[in-house]
Amino acid sequence: MIRFERVAVIGVGLIGGSFALGLKKHKLCGHVVGAGRSPANMKLALKRAAIDSMAADPAAAVRDGDLILVATPVAQFEKVFSSIRSNLKPTAIVTDAGSTKRDVVAAARAGLGKKISQFVPAHPVAGAEKSGAAAASADLFKGKRVVLTPLPENSPESIKKIEAAWSACGARVTRMSPEEHDEVFAAVSHLPHLLAYALLSELGERANSKQLFGYAASGFRDFTRIASSHPEMWRDICVANRDCLLTEILSFEKRLTSIASMLEAGDATALEKLFADARAARERWLNGEYE
Ligand code: NAD
Repeated sequence: MIRFERVAVIGVGLIGGSFALGLKKHKLCGHVVGAGRSPANMKLALKRAAIDSMAADPAAAVRDGDLILVATPVAQFEKVFSSIRSNLKPTAIVTDAGSTKRDVVAAARAGLGKKISQFVPAHPVAGAEKSGAAAASADLFKGKRVVLTPLPENSPESIKKIEAAWSACGARVTRMSPEEHDEVFAAVSHLPHLLAYALLSELGERANSKQLFGYAASGFRDFTRIASSHPEMWRDICVANRDCLLTEILSFEKRLTSIASMLEAGDATALEKLFADARAARERWLNGEYE
């Protein structure tokens, strides 16, 4: 059984708090120290026992740490990595929860320098539109995927330890390259979030927005749920992965243009086929055929 005596969580929000609660629930850790930006959130993390103590800053939090999780918005990573570098002990393993991976790896190389081999990048594919320690849950990762994008410098032992920690929290761990990761998540996560934000922004700016929202019902609620996600987090993800996201936007624009042509031509047959194929794809996905 794997165990980390001292764990440091930098950014004790939904993901950082859930990881800490998960490690505690499965008795994988001793003391958990947190570092954060919002004093009110940190107090709540303490109250909810996600962390056992608060450090003044990330550098102080990682001192003597065996496992470090960086779970701030991704634009903060380079600053965090630079500030913790000199306090990392040689046996410490650093991992992260960032939703993008090429920028995170670049930030780690810049910030950690020669200690880069100690960093095993990870992305838990679990979350919610809620944020902060208030939303953290020990079971957030149960049955969910975690993608590791290990580096050539990582030792097999440190990769195994990170894999074991996520697995013990109930996650299914797989591996990808950072490049493949960012392409995949641009399509299935980043584009859908952008579309939800775009629709709300478009309708919210119309002169009759009150009327529109007054009649919006459950389909609208389902489609736009993810536009309640944290704006800073999504700003950072979209900027970090903008090249892959722009490719996805272009494909989506082409698809919309083709649907507009079907509508212009009144081509009901083509439209129905598209809807039927799309529904079948969703059903295969819901039935777990792509697991
Ligand atoms: P969150 O807003 O709930 O938590 C982030 C925390 O980081 C906040 O408490 C914030 O105060 C703190 N923070 C910000 N800058 C900091 C800094 N410089 N130093 C210390 N603390 C700082 O966000 P979250 O949903 O937990 O997301 C955290 C990370 O996990 C992000 O990188 C995000 O891309 C990734 N992620 C999120 C989800 C999701 O659905 N929410 C899913 C997978 C991965």
